[in-house]
Amino acid sequence: MNAKQQWLVCFDTDHIKQYLFATNRLKEIRGGSALLSSLDQQRKKEFESRYGEQNIVYSAGGGAAVLVSTEQEARDLIAETERDFHAATITVSITGAYVRADALSGTFGAEMTRASRELRRAKTAKAELSILPIEPYLRLCSSCGQHPAVQQADDGSGDWLCQACYKKRKLGGAKGFFAEFVEWADPTIWTGDTLPKDLDHIGLVSSPPGYVGFIALDGNHIGDLLSEMKTVEGYHEFSTGLWSLTKEQTFTALKKHGRPRNGIAPFEIILIGGDDVLLITAADTAIEVALAIAAGFEQHSPDQVLKPGGLEGEREKLTMAGGVVLAHADFPIPAMHALAEDLQKSAKRLCAEQGYQTGAIDFQVVSGSDTDLDTLREAIPHHRPYTLAQLRKLLKHVRQLKAADLPMSQLQAMYQALFEGEVNAQLASIATLGYLGRSTDKTRYDRLKAFFAEFGVKFDGQLPPWDDELGKRRGQRTSALTDLVELYPFVSAKGGTE
Ligand SMILES: [Zn+2]
Repeated sequence: MNAKQQWLVCFDTDHIKQYLFATNRLKEIRGGSALLSSLDQQRKKEFESRYGEQNIVYSAGGGAAVLVSTEQEARDLIAETERDFHAATITVSITGAYVRADALSGTFGAEMTRASRELRRAKTAKAELSILPIEPYLRLCSSCGQHPAVQQADDGSGDWLCQACYKKRKLGGAKGFFAEFVEWADPTIWTGDTLPKDLDHIGLVSSPPGYVGFIALDGNHIGDLLSEMKTVEGYHEFSTGLWSLTKEQTFTALKKHGRPRNGIAPFEIILIGGDDVLLITAADTAIEVALAIAAGFEQHSPDQVLKPGGLEGEREKLTMAGGVVLAHADFPIPAMHALAEDLQKSAKRLCAEQGYQTGAIDFQVVSGSDTDLDTLREAIPHHRPYTLAQLRKLLKHVRQLKAADLPMSQLQAMYQALFEGEVNAQLASIATLGYLGRSTDKTRYDRLKAFFAEFGVKFDGQLPPWDDELGKRRGQRTSALTDLVELYPFVSAKGGTE
């Protein structure tokens, strides 16, 4: 076989999330997201027509890898792409880097790893250059507060905006991922008119009213697999498969759980990129949607990603880690995003402990203005994060207890006692069980007891609500009761994935 010497050019957009969440306005976030995704599509088309489809390793999600024949071509392509991208977004940049590569070496993954290393180096060098001081007499953009304001918004708000935010807000009516979803799902059920105007709009059709869920999901350690890839074709198949799987599972979950309520689609797709998903939904569907996406991704990954990439021997399946924030619609979106990413990291640690054999989700209900996860959880004896199977069980118990009309006040009494020491917590749980047990109808008693038993309470040893097994492993008192009570208002008695 003849060696095929070529130049491998890689691109990656810098700080996508910083760009999207520079603002707290849903419309601007949507505009930014729509702009990035249309630039993605243009780039893909342009690269394909110029270099031929067989030379595009991948092109999506703000990144791309292309094979070109000369070093000059590689340099020109980078210069041109960086210039055009910056002109379109104003505040975001894309970075390119290239390496000499042998596409037929049989170790293409290693060549990609080399190129990624080059790319990281170029990105770091650029970041050091891009911190420009802002003159103190300049008026700052009233949306992002980061760049000089240059234009007044033409939406009657009177806001003075920087050029980037002006563009985002103008594009806020563009539908981006939503339009793609509508086309895919059913244009007779979801229409342009069902697109929510802002977060309050989603909160309006949510239960409890006024609350929304922010979901962040991400595939687990996929980079390692990519470096194992032998051929360009394999790499291409793997990344396209990964893309369409993530999108398909997100759309499937939203089709099922995101039907319009009072004419409003109760969700916003902020970003779907590679194995990365960011969504906002009505609070009562957030956990279900996150679970459905992560479970579907796991289930279909062998056929849709591993096999086409020639990696079925490497790993049995791919898994996802997710974070879900449940907060009032007026909680700042950038803060929701930051918290959701922290929760996702916490879920990832559990996935790693489980050898990546299962996905996991962590969640947090936010009621005050605290945004630091450690502060929010201080002294709370919880069970989180959950593997997908455990979370599904937790939801099942919430539903069963709700269906049996277990009053929130009785749960609340047990919940309060969790913070009053080990013995008080036990007394409260035993008192509630005792009270329910004296009733002629034993349904509530049975269901509460079944919940405790499912989450590690051994009635012959440790008394509820404390979890024997997990408590031992963590070296501290833990109880799933906290999680059950906190989720209770956000799960409807009906519905569910089963
Ligand atoms: Zn701005």
